[in-house]
Amino acid sequence: MSDLILIRYGELALKGKNRNQFENRLLQNIREKLSSFSGVQVKKTFGRMFVELNGQPMDPVVEELREVFGVVGISPATRVESDLDQIQAAALELVQGLDPRPRTFKVIAKRAWKEFSHTSQEINHLLGSHILKNTEGIQVDVHQPELSLRVEVRREGTYLYGRDLSGPGGLPVGSSGRVMLMLSGGIDSPVAAYYVLKRGAALEAVHFHSYPFTSERARKKVEDLAQILTRYAGKIHLHVVPFTEIQTQIREKCPSAYMITIMRRFMVRISEELARSNQALALVTGESLGQVASQTLESMNVINDVTRMPILRPLVGMDKQEIMQVSRKIGTYETSILPYEDCCTVFQPKYPVTRPGVERSRALEASLDVERLVQDAVAATECVTLKRETTQEEFSYF
Ligand code: ATP
Ligand code: MG
Repeated sequence: MSDLILIRYGELALKGKNRNQFENRLLQNIREKLSSFSGVQVKKTFGRMFVELNGQPMDPVVEELREVFGVVGISPATRVESDLDQIQAAALELVQGLDPRPRTFKVIAKRAWKEFSHTSQEINHLLGSHILKNTEGIQVDVHQPELSLRVEVRREGTYLYGRDLSGPGGLPVGSSGRVMLMLSGGIDSPVAAYYVLKRGAALEAVHFHSYPFTSERARKKVEDLAQILTRYAGKIHLHVVPFTEIQTQIREKCPSAYMITIMRRFMVRISEELARSNQALALVTGESLGQVASQTLESMNVINDVTRMPILRPLVGMDKQEIMQVSRKIGTYETSILPYEDCCTVFQPKYPVTRPGVERSRALEASLDVERLVQDAVAATECVTLKRETTQEEFSYF
């Protein structure tokens, strides 16, 4: 029985000191992700990472690992003593335990412990013939086998692994610094979060709500989205900003065509303040080029005008269909499509400007006390902490 999982990781470019940091971060993230499985241990030895199941079931642990960025491959494995009989028995058990049973295989042995009595080539042959002799309907194919059975003989034991499941790739969360995600209740911003997490950014989130124009349910929906994102991100601080006063003033004092533009400028100013006070180095939005009126290049210029902080737009080149596909895959879609209003939809003008001007936006804001409005909103911001839900009850055998 497989009672170990070998984790493959590593970007090709990783070298030297970076590698150590990458590995330690990944190790920590995997440990955290699996912390609800009692008895499970994650170890780094000989430049590789292993999960020891210690009686916990394989599949739910594998499912968790598939959400840990930095993990490239996941291979259920077995460890036996470095003794030929034991290795042969384990190899056979591994091949016969696979469902579906492979029709072709090859053995790829590596003798890391040179005192072992057979060379790598000999091990390939010995195991290959043992499997052939004891398994019906199986053949060796050295070019394109359905199963590559890898065998690593070390002094402390021999590892055997067959299946190779893909992980999500990317970089371990936390290895690229921290970002502030502007999280709406829509489909796009959670997907944007997924992509910055994939490149190793730790996530902080900000949401603007306009109670009572928007309901408590709408706010709860955003908390639910952030909760889902904790599967990939770990703990998330969600900063909830009261936006009613600002929206009301914009509606009173600015032409309706510019409402969204100016609202966005306020959102960015406030998000930047919150980013700075939470050590985040960039903002992230779910904008995609040309998707709606406020996502033209002109709009992006006007929005960027109020900040010097980078605004990352990971979805810029994606079509809505592609974004929706990812949102289904990461589990946010069903929540995103719940019909609660967002502060932008409540105040959506009939004819929003598609080519807003920087000068014009600045001039329109002259009638508002921008600094005070921003500071008041920041001061009234609430912070909600969302933690990963554990799966202990569901899967624990104890
Ligand atoms: P989404 O599906 O992410 O809501 P969208 O297609 O509806 O995006 P917009 O409503 O124009 O597009 O919003 C563009 C981006 O601005 C969002 O992806 C999000 O990053 C940010 N944003 C919009 N509304 C809010 C909000 N209420 N709070 C925080 N960020 C917001
Ligand atoms: Mg939206």
